Amino acid sequence: MDFDDSPDEAAYRARVRELLERHASELVRLRPGQEAVDPRTSEAELRRTQRVLADAGLVGVAWPAEFGGQGGTLMQQAIVSQELARAGVPALINHIGIGMCGPTVIAHGSQDQRERYLTRLLRADDVWCQLFSEPASGSDLAALRTTAVRDGDDWVVNGQKVWTTLAHVADLGILLTRTDPDRPKHAGLTMFVVDMHAPGVTVRPLRQMGGQSDFNEVFFDDVRIPDSERLGEPGEGWRVALTTLMNERVAIGGAGGTIGLPVEAFVQHARERLPGLDPERQVLARQAVGRAVVAALGARYSGYRRLTALSQGGLPGPEASAGKLAGTEAARLVADAGVRLLGDDAVYAATGEGDDRWQRTQSWIPGIAIAGGTDQVLRNIIGERVLGLPPEPRSDKTVPFSGGRR
Ligand SMILES: Cc1cc2nc3c(=O)[nH]c(=O)nc-3n(C[C@H](O)[C@H](O)[C@H](O)COP(=O)(O)OP(=O)(O)OC[C@H]3O[C@@H](n4cnc5c(N)ncnc54)[C@H](O)[C@@H]3O)c2cc1C
Repeated sequence: MDFDDSPDEAAYRARVRELLERHASELVRLRPGQEAVDPRTSEAELRRTQRVLADAGLVGVAWPAEFGGQGGTLMQQAIVSQELARAGVPALINHIGIGMCGPTVIAHGSQDQRERYLTRLLRADDVWCQLFSEPASGSDLAALRTTAVRDGDDWVVNGQKVWTTLAHVADLGILLTRTDPDRPKHAGLTMFVVDMHAPGVTVRPLRQMGGQSDFNEVFFDDVRIPDSERLGEPGEGWRVALTTLMNERVAIGGAGGTIGLPVEAFVQHARERLPGLDPERQVLARQAVGRAVVAALGARYSGYRRLTALSQGGLPGPEASAGKLAGTEAARLVADAGVRLLGDDAVYAATGEGDDRWQRTQSWIPGIAIAGGTDQVLRNIIGERVLGLPPEPRSDKTVPFSGGRR
């Protein structure tokens, strides 16, 4: 890949910088070195920031213009992401909507759904969440038990989802349900758009070890969803979900994005902290810094390579799994080394008194290693679909989900 901007890309970058400067006073900014997803930024500020960016043409850059996007290239999208990070703008509140739900509505929604939802999604007028995982179905997503039963023009939904990021602020969600338990597990699923404010939807935030509540349990008790809110045909939910999951891996780590704190902030931290460590600790810290920087730059440049392939018309494939895996591992090494560099001050940082960026990142990296496909599941995908190794035995793939026990 050529790392220099082409003349067109340089002109586009200059235009993005100019727009960001023009709207600077309307945007939330991170403190220097603060991580892009910070629980201390308020929902209202984040919604406003996304709206300002969308109205300036800086959200949904690569989405088709007919769906409210800018009809730009993936390269332009990457330039906007880089410039937002450079300007210290936090992650967009509707990142799940933009990265996963929106592309699913574009691919499988009706014209009416696209018109009603997509522009509002880009402006964060509606925040979206993804309602897939359940207490007994995560990696084995097709084992889900939330049911949708047809009743006249509606479907009636009962069941529970869990780990639903943003459900506590979401207005809408994409919901994967079982509509036919007598078919094999992948064949009896159907996807819907659900109104998170509908009667019968209960959201209970879960508290994480870092203190924040990013995700939730969501309960559905006789929730009625009009058939017009179905995404794809009944029984086609798995195919629709694959669109979401493929986009999820790209959004999390597959297309040149950095997971966790930027390597530049880490190098700066190392420069400041290394000289103050005693000699024995310094030796170990130097090794950890070297390993972390190599991993972070490796993940970044592999991401750029995938981005180049996408910008030349390729589709996100199983190699996005390798991107997420490498990005997560790099983020873990960076956060661990960041804490090591604090030496004894790590104790104070943990109380929130000092530089607690590294510990807070350390506390959510295990979650990133699970969300959107666990490390182990991604290794399976790489083994099977990239390296061509024999697949795992799957004994329940062809039998009815109900096992004939209904
Ligand atoms: C930060 C975060 C945000 C999330 N946000 C959302 C969201 O917005 N919406 C949503 O629907 N879900 C969300 N999830 C849930 C996430 O998709 C699931 O946690 C994930 O799919 C794993 O499922 P599980 O937790 O049930 O673990 P399990 O699938 O039960 O896995 C348990 C362990 O077994 C291993 N394992 C499982 N199967 C295999 C296998 N075949 N081979 C080898 N090892 C295996 C796993 O790697 C793991 O170590 C989120 C999770 C996290 C952590």
